[in-house]
Amino acid sequence: MKSPISDSAPSEILSKPDWRWQMRNRISSLSELENIISLTDEEKRGISGSARVFRWKITPYYASLMNPKDPECPIRKQVVPHEDELLQGCEEYSLDPLEELAHSPAKNLIHNYKDRVAFCISTECPSFCRFCLRKRMVGHSEQNLRPEEYEEAIQYISSHTEIRDVLLTGGDPLTLGDDTLISLITTLRNIPHVDIIRLGTRYPVLNPFRITGELCRRISELHPVWINTHFNHPAELTPQAAEALHTMVDAGIPVGNQTVLLKGINNDESILRELFQKLVTHRVRPYYLYQSQSIEGTRHFQTTIEEGMEIMEKLRGTLTGFAIPLYVLDTPYGKVPLNPHGYKGRQGNYVQIRSYSGKIWQEFNPE
Ligand SMILES: *Cc1c(COP(=O)(O)O)cnc(C)c1O
Repeated sequence: MKSPISDSAPSEILSKPDWRWQMRNRISSLSELENIISLTDEEKRGISGSARVFRWKITPYYASLMNPKDPECPIRKQVVPHEDELLQGCEEYSLDPLEELAHSPAKNLIHNYKDRVAFCISTECPSFCRFCLRKRMVGHSEQNLRPEEYEEAIQYISSHTEIRDVLLTGGDPLTLGDDTLISLITTLRNIPHVDIIRLGTRYPVLNPFRITGELCRRISELHPVWINTHFNHPAELTPQAAEALHTMVDAGIPVGNQTVLLKGINNDESILRELFQKLVTHRVRPYYLYQSQSIEGTRHFQTTIEEGMEIMEKLRGTLTGFAIPLYVLDTPYGKVPLNPHGYKGRQGNYVQIRSYSGKIWQEFNPE
């Protein structure tokens, strides 16, 4: 029987604390989802049209956090397709807004900053965030590395002695099993010029049972390994998620958090203040707040850059300094802080942003 979800599914079943069970039982059909929440027509149309845009799947755990009656639920909006995604953007909405493909010396390896690389080692995620930055590859298993391509990427890192920081990302790198992941981290650890290894993962949010004491203990033998996770809303900080965070931190892993500023989900001073405040109580440092990018099918999530800057202004002085992340825009020229230093002004639908190298990037950001 494929679906464990019945009409009377109690939330204990939805949150069975076994990460592989959660992956096997991800919700991916309209009828399964309808057993949990009452879908709006806009969501139903989003689901039926999503096949040609970006697939969807939701872990039973994350689904259990959704408000069944409220289409504005911030959990629901992150993972349930909506017909707004299907609206064709204009040509400014790209599937590769950071020009990552142009910065790839080997498949799934992005070398944009001299001393750091991002290495996409999995195309699979526990759930598919509707605002995903890597829709071009996430959920496309044919984009996974073949063994010889994997070797080529490792070879590139080994032979480029300027690389001192390797960021394992995806997809979600924790989709790999423990042995595969540990073997990769060990390989990187054995490259003398690689100082730090980091993992970017949303498992603590979408499937927190992935974060086991055993995995963290094995990672701790390969330190320094840093983890950045991705909470967008305080409702995601459940007891299960908190336990995952504590397990990582207790293993000596410094944990940071990256949030995406999303219209209708968290573009609100008090929501973000609560999120950042709670993260530090779990010893997690808010690292970046990302401006949402011009990615196809995400226009309805985009705020203006000025709105984001105003929210940041209000957090300063009213929140512990280290609870305040840096508000940034990722560009093909690197990440740029969105503050009065980086923000050079607006002309119509474009904002001029100064990058660390002094180049001016024109960001499409409709008024
Ligand atoms: C974000 C990113 C990094 C890491 O940047 P930090 O500012 O050091 O966190 C590295 N490479 C690429 C391609 C990135 O997008």
